Amino acid sequence: VAHPAAGWTTHIPTGYDETSPSMALRFYNTLTQQVQEFAPARDNTVRMYTCGPTVYDYAHIGNFRTFTFVDLLRKTLRANGFGLNHVMNITDVDDKIIRNAAAQGKTLEEYTAIYTQAFLDDCETLRLERPERLTPATQHIDDMAAAIERLGAGNHTYASDGSIYFRISTFPQYGKLSHNDFSGNLAGARVDVDEYEKADARDFALWKAPKPGERFWEEAIGPGRPGWHIECSVMAIKYLGETLDIHAGGVDLIFPHHENEIAQSESLTGKPFSRFWLHAEFLMVEGQKMSKSLGNYLTLRDVLARGYEPEAIRYLLASAPYRKSLNFTFDGLKSSATAIERLRNFKLRLETDRYPEGVQERLTARTAAASQAFVDSLNDDLNTAEALAAVFEYVRDANSAMDTGEFRSGNVAGALEFLSRFDSIFDVLRPTGKGGHIPDSEVESLVAERTAAKKARNFVAADRIREQLLERGIVLEDTKSGVRWKRK
Ligand code: AMP
Ligand code: ZN
Repeated sequence: VAHPAAGWTTHIPTGYDETSPSMALRFYNTLTQQVQEFAPARDNTVRMYTCGPTVYDYAHIGNFRTFTFVDLLRKTLRANGFGLNHVMNITDVDDKIIRNAAAQGKTLEEYTAIYTQAFLDDCETLRLERPERLTPATQHIDDMAAAIERLGAGNHTYASDGSIYFRISTFPQYGKLSHNDFSGNLAGARVDVDEYEKADARDFALWKAPKPGERFWEEAIGPGRPGWHIECSVMAIKYLGETLDIHAGGVDLIFPHHENEIAQSESLTGKPFSRFWLHAEFLMVEGQKMSKSLGNYLTLRDVLARGYEPEAIRYLLASAPYRKSLNFTFDGLKSSATAIERLRNFKLRLETDRYPEGVQERLTARTAAASQAFVDSLNDDLNTAEALAAVFEYVRDANSAMDTGEFRSGNVAGALEFLSRFDSIFDVLRPTGKGGHIPDSEVESLVAERTAAKKARNFVAADRIREQLLERGIVLEDTKSGVRWKRK
């Protein structure tokens, strides 16, 4: 049987140690409020949906804490031998997007293309794997309108002022994810930003009537645009089926967003929408959530501009277990850089120092135990802090064994294998390199610029671009069919 991760990058160890069975993978499930053993329901493939960015501006590093958690989740699932089918939406229509695009005299598409690309570039910089499928909301409007129509046929909706609302009283289980008791009086509760008329404060818009000058879609249910919640339900079911294995996002999405997704999806299918719900806690700044509205945020680009390596940011965001809030400080970022340095130095020492012949059995056992502790910690609801502790305690012991001459040449391979296992999850050992990471889109545009320069017979400029790219690790190759490039 082919390993589910077959075809994936070769330096990654395939699955965890078969000889000493690891602790079973388990996650805290917001739905059941319990830590539960996890395995996908069908054919060893995890069907996972995670809520993506709203592309109205650059994402901040708080957003990236959640996306980094999702990346660690993907890698841990894969290390457990599971295949992945992961879908993430791109919210490319909402109030803020419409407002900002209009203010800049751009179409919705022009405006969101900029921030979608910026988001993907930032993900690449932080080494976040692409989900198997990215789904822009505006490419699924017909599906959403059809789903709203079906909800209407099941009496789950009502229209008011040209908008269509979900009637929450038709879904008695409402509140089961957030464990909110909605039996009390909710009048006046702020549960949606809509200014439209609603029968009940909890009811939410599925379809919003067009406002003057705003972008809308002409559908059988009337002209308008979809609400945010229906987006995720429709795209998740379309690509992953009626019941997902995992649905994830930040804790701020539990209510109302995910609660509403459950109400819509389960009203449509009559099946449980997702078996597991995982939520990442916030990145904080001085006791407050990092957010656009509080103004206490930093984009990835802000942090890089201050001279920090992307790996240090990735490490910092990954270092605290996802269910604990993490306070952002520049000191924390500096410690992360130091921690990475320590690991890189250890790796260099393993690769370059000469050790006495033979094997130190005690160290072999020590390596195996550390590696096991690393795996077990991650399998324990992604306890990254404990996983890192296992790594650093080991590095300290191994370094002192090197100092005393105890460390033997026969111990090198095992130590390197453990480091590579660590890096298959944390991915911080390889330095980004001079000039910082250059995203694909920037390479493409520089290649185009060079081609144009060559056409204009400006060979000096063309050569300069080639050299600049080379300095940043990009190798160009001129072929008959055009320019090809690759990373060194
Ligand atoms: P948005 O682009 O606003 O839809 O948010 C994208 C993701 O970032 C969502 O999963 C949010 O829950 C998450 N998020 C927003 N602020 C923070 C924060 N300060 N810390 C961690 N995650 C956050
Ligand atoms: Zn969502």
